Amino acid sequence: MRKKIVAGNWKMNLNFEDGQKLTSEIVNILKDENDKKVTVVLNPPFVHLYPVKKLIGDTPNLFLGSQNCSDKSSGAYTGEVSAAMLVSFGAEYVIIGHSERREYFKESNQLLTAKTRQALENGLIPIFCCGEPLDIREAGTHEAYVKAQLTESLFGFTEEEISKVVIAYEPIWAIGTGKTASSEQAQEMHAALRNHFASKYGQNVADNLSILYGGSCNPGNAKEIFSKADVDGGLIGGASLKSRDFVEIVKSF
Ligand code: PEP
Repeated sequence: MRKKIVAGNWKMNLNFEDGQKLTSEIVNILKDENDKKVTVVLNPPFVHLYPVKKLIGDTPNLFLGSQNCSDKSSGAYTGEVSAAMLVSFGAEYVIIGHSERREYFKESNQLLTAKTRQALENGLIPIFCCGEPLDIREAGTHEAYVKAQLTESLFGFTEEEISKVVIAYEPIWAIGTGKTASSEQAQEMHAALRNHFASKYGQNVADNLSILYGGSCNPGNAKEIFSKADVDGGLIGGASLKSRDFVEIVKSF
């Protein structure tokens, strides 16, 4: 059975006190209200990892993740944070290949392979992001484009390794724009991506892969999007910064 997952991506937002307040609110609501046993992941900036982990404590089904990790294991790489460090601070997930990292930090499919390898070797669950820009969607080549991202970054991994990865399909034109993909568009793409994994790794591996949708998910549209057969949850940006909205999304299942 594949997991239902809602992951919040705080991006570069919230100072120390705001992060503490948001986490405390989420913990307080979720400890009583996550009755569907959805896996919830908070992905704050690096500096928040330790204090957020302390607040999460042993809250059931609530986990810590990071927004990024280095492609190197350790050494003279000023400003980088390794997967092993994240684990030592209590992280269990890491977002890899978010479109903002691909675009602003020029992260290539090959670099993302190395980051995914670091994550897996250190026991972190990668939330691997993929998705097409607007011009590719308008040209109608989005399926081939996203499949190529996945093939180039991930298809060198073994069946056992791929079984540990979570995929987040995030059409770039829907991220932070308030313009969400329709539930039909999300389902169509998620099914195509699952088939893509089935063609390489077999139906069983593909059926157990959690594929999250990301792109302007909010309490008003999450229920409809999550109702689709191949949508296993969401990667949430803006709405993860408001505790009530984020928890409403978690409860949309
Ligand atoms: C994201 O950054 O992964 C994202 C989906 O952002 P938003 O929900 O704000 O569109």
